[in-house]
Amino acid sequence: MEYRLSKEHELFKRAVREYCEKNVAPRSREIDEKENGIPDDIIKGLADIGVFGCTVPEKYGGCAMPGEETQYALTAIHELARAELSMSLPVYTLLTIGWGGEFIALYGNEETKKEILPKLASGEWSWGICATEPGGGSDVAAIKTQAIRKGNKFIVNGEKAYISQVKECQKRGGGHSTLFVSDPAKGVKGGMSMLAVKPNDCKGVTSSVYKDMGRMGLSTGGFRYKDTEVPDKYLLGQEGKGFYACMEGFNVARVVVAAACLGGAERTIEIAAEYAKQRKAFGRPLSKFQGISFDLADLYTQLDLLKTQLMRGAWMIDKYYSEPGSFTQKQINPIIAECKWLAPQLAVEAAKRAIMILGAFGYTKESPLEMAMRGAMSYVSGAEGAANIMKIIIARDIFGSEFVDK
Ligand SMILES: Cc1cc2nc3c(=O)[nH]c(=O)nc-3n(C[C@H](O)[C@H](O)[C@H](O)COP(=O)(O)OP(=O)(O)OC[C@H]3O[C@@H](n4cnc5c(N)ncnc54)[C@H](O)[C@@H]3O)c2cc1C
Repeated sequence: MEYRLSKEHELFKRAVREYCEKNVAPRSREIDEKENGIPDDIIKGLADIGVFGCTVPEKYGGCAMPGEETQYALTAIHELARAELSMSLPVYTLLTIGWGGEFIALYGNEETKKEILPKLASGEWSWGICATEPGGGSDVAAIKTQAIRKGNKFIVNGEKAYISQVKECQKRGGGHSTLFVSDPAKGVKGGMSMLAVKPNDCKGVTSSVYKDMGRMGLSTGGFRYKDTEVPDKYLLGQEGKGFYACMEGFNVARVVVAAACLGGAERTIEIAAEYAKQRKAFGRPLSKFQGISFDLADLYTQLDLLKTQLMRGAWMIDKYYSEPGSFTQKQINPIIAECKWLAPQLAVEAAKRAIMILGAFGYTKESPLEMAMRGAMSYVSGAEGAANIMKIIIARDIFGSEFVDK
């Protein structure tokens, strides 16, 4: 076992941290307060140091370390989230490198990879995932939006809801890896397909945007498709097998989501600790009161355990793809579900306790903690799988699926 990052990986981590501390952290409030708030120069800067290319093979303009893509993505997002506590930029990036770079490199055909991957690696396009529908998100197998084959095209009709970066992919270019019903008679076993959908290139797509409580620099909204034509070259994976590809994609996405929560929690604990060393009450620094220091010790322990488990999960996923047969999805699922269940709760709890430690100052917008709490809540309330769904996955591992209700 090796519990250290390789030299190259450590250098990558340091480069991302240095870039983010200098260029991202001072602008996180600005990012949170502006609609479409992610500045182009930051995206370009991150692309230049390899963040958007870290899951894209060199052949397509990226700088992925073969067999370590998910682990590098974890590092990049962890570092970004430390600097951008509102989560807008970490989420924008994790979707683009996860559901874009890594997923399309694994599932796209050669033509699609040549077209899309270089634009993702350079930061020009954004990418995301479109699975949830107005009728529900947890029960992915129950989606209704149809993409029915007609010759060498799919004709799409239906609606997707609560989708991240609806506006960004129309403003900058790009799209979403999207799950459809392609054969209503067959269900999940052979009747669902994933397609790369670029709304700017498709007729019959309209979009709407919601007003979220957090991640204000990034849009969440929905798409409606009315007889929208998508060429079959944009199939991601095998026709009919999209449900399984999507579930595998969720594991990668949940690693980077948990990494974002981990980075946010780590930074909020640091902010609270720095403050507690400086601020005096009753003649002593706050840190000398065990009511304060034990609180942070408690959070720090959970944070450290999460970090190790998350790295293990990312490593298992990378092995799954690079050394077929080394792990099964059934082995990976509960490890990732544990992380995706714990990380958002921890991030929200860390923000809450840090706000308490900073007293009245913590409740103001002079401190970034309220932003951290609003951002992390998106992952408690459901994005990339709600907490209860993660517990169902873990329970299946404990009891066996036949003993666990969906
Ligand atoms: C900010 C934000 C961004 C998002 N971005 C995207 C995106 O980019 N792409 C995308 O496809 N989706 C996205 N989503 C949607 C997200 O995936 C869904 O919110 C999630 O899957 C839950 O679905 P739902 O909201 O419809 O809740 P429901 O499925 O209606 O569930 C509601 C509640 O019931 C619980 N529940 C459901 N079933 C069970 C059960 N069997 N046992 C116990 N409890 C249960 C859930 O845990 C949840 O708390 C986003 C959501 C948010 C909040």
